[in-house]
Parts: sequence; structure tokens; C-alpha cells
Amino acid sequence: MKAFAPRSLDEAMVRLTEDPDLRLLAGCTDLMVGEPEDRLGLPGVLDLRGLSELRRIEWHDDALEIGAVTPFSQIRDSPEVQKSFPALAEAASKIGGWQIQNRASLGGNMANASPAGDSLPVLLVLEAQVVLVGPEGTRTVPYREFHLGYRQTALGPGEIIGWVRLPKPPENAMQFFRKVGAREAQAISKVVVALLADVSDGRVSEYRLAAGSVAEVPLRLTEVEKAMVGRAAKAEIANLAGHLAAQAVRPIDDVRSTAEYRRFALEQVVRRMTLQLVRRVPE
Ligand SMILES: Cc1cc2nc3c(=O)[nH]c(=O)nc-3n(C[C@H](O)[C@H](O)[C@H](O)COP(=O)(O)OP(=O)(O)OC[C@H]3O[C@@H](n4cnc5c(N)ncnc54)[C@H](O)[C@@H]3O)c2cc1C
Repeated sequence: MKAFAPRSLDEAMVRLTEDPDLRLLAGCTDLMVGEPEDRLGLPGVLDLRGLSELRRIEWHDDALEIGAVTPFSQIRDSPEVQKSFPALAEAASKIGGWQIQNRASLGGNMANASPAGDSLPVLLVLEAQVVLVGPEGTRTVPYREFHLGYRQTALGPGEIIGWVRLPKPPENAMQFFRKVGAREAQAISKVVVALLADVSDGRVSEYRLAAGSVAEVPLRLTEVEKAMVGRAAKAEIANLAGHLAAQAVRPIDDVRSTAEYRRFALEQVVRRMTLQLVRRVPE
């Protein structure tokens, strides 16, 4: 099997243009645990881990850029992420266990496009932009237009995920992340929820809610969002938010959970997050 480890993004693009069948590789935590036929049948791999452009966390203008190959341990420990995007730092700390976090990358989580990817609802509420690098240059797509279906993305031929841009969130907005799994670590989510919300003058002024493992793709629950914005920030709205969230999704039964439990867990998590919001208690 051919294996290439380019040292620059330009070199990676040349390789990929010459050999479009090369499979991109980052932490390998999805790629190497897939079906043996898939792994053994790979025509060749392009290892992205040596590309410094894709392994960084830095501010550019008013957005924090995180390279696609950046492992979750670096995201989890980054002071910039912890300060401005605590929901992402929290999600990074809940992916697999420490061994997985040391290898698994944000770009790999996005490209794998599982409905249960833990970083994905967070990217939705942070309104992340995805920068794709291809033979013709770069293009930027909102993350909500990137994940198109079950394990389907907007990546075109010869394109790689370069980095994500996270716009600075509203000044006083609170962020929440909660993963419900069978264990504290090394568990794929039964339900995963992210919320970015704010209260001003006693009313909910911002409410961005997303959930994973409840549909083919992670979803922004826009009906709940519309119903919450403008409401008086009182404890009663928490029940309503949870109820509406549970009504808004059509989860399935599978090996990890039942649809009924997923709906129940989502209701409880959204209810609790909304209570914390109105009481301004951080997660
Ligand atoms: C024990 C275990 C526990 C896990 N627990 C969790 C968990 O709790 N939560 C969770 O969300 N996931 C979990 N995972 C899944 C996995 O760790 C994540 O999806 C991880 O983010 C994948 O990243 P990676 O760098 O390892 O990707 P890889 O395996 O290297 O690649 C995955 C896919 O993405 C493509 N790809 C990689 N980088 C790019 C790029 N820059 N541009 C375009 N395509 C790219 C590859 O070609 C491949 O198709 C777990 C996996 C294991 C083995």
C-alpha cells in the first residue's frame, strides 16, 4: 500500500491531485477500527498529521481557527478554547478516553459524519465555518451545510477539511454541553446536546440548541429556539424547552439505546440546561 506523509499543504494537494484515490488519514481512530475489508482494500493513504497549517489553534480577526488535524487533547487543554468556547473544551474532554483524545482529530470527527459525533452539535451552536482546501484553492461553508446526511458531507473530490473558524460568541452568552452514554468514558453517545444561550433584561435573548444521536445528522432544534427567544427567564420555561425538544426529534432504536430513552434523556438534559441558564449557573 502506498503511504505519503507530506510536509506542506501544497505538497498534500499535489499528491492528492496526482492520486485522487488516496485515503486521508489523521488520528486513525475511525479509519483503523473500520471493517477489515475497507482497511485492507485501501489503495493508499495520505497522512495529514505533519501539516502544521492543519494542526493549530489561533485567533484570526474575530474567529478562533482550529486546524482539522488538531487532536481533541489539545482542544480540551487550550486556554483559548476553554475561555471562549467552553462547550467545545467540554466535548473534547468527553470523546473516548485520554488515549483516544490524544489521537482523534476534530476534522476526523467531522469527516466521519456520524450522527453521534460529540463535537458536532457544538459546532452547530457555535455557528462554525468550515474551510475546505482543494485543488482550486479554499472555500468556506457553514458547518450546518457541511454534514449532509448519514456519513455524507459536502467534501468535494480532492478536497480536505483545512480548519474550522469559530466566530467570537456573544459576550455574556452561556454554553452547555452534555453527553449521555453508558459510561463516563469510552462510550458512544446515546444523546449529545449543546446549548448556547443568553438572558438580557429578564428575557431569553439568544437560544441556540443542537442535539446528536437523535436523527441521521446532528440537528439544530430551531422550533425550540424560536419558542424560547423572548420568553421571561423563569424556571417554568425549562419544562417547556425540554418538552418541545423531545417532540422535535424522531430518534431510532439501535444497539446503544431505544428511541424512547433517547427522547426522555433529551428532554431531561434540555430542561436542566435551561434551568441553569435562567439561574445563571454554569455547567
Ligand atoms: C475506542 C474509541 C472511542 C471513541 N469514542 C468516541 C466518542 O466518545 N465520541 C466521538 O465523537 N467519537 C468517538 N470515537 C470515534 C473517533 O475517535 C472520532 O470520530 C475521531 O474524531 C476521528 O478522528 P481521527 O483523527 O482519528 O480520524 P481518522 O480515523 O484518521 O479519519 C476518519 C475519517 O475522516 C477522514 N479524514 C480525516 N481527516 C480529514 C480531513 N482533514 N479532511 C477530510 N477528511 C478527513 C478520513 O479519510 C476517514 O474517512 C471513538 C473511537 C474509538 C476507537
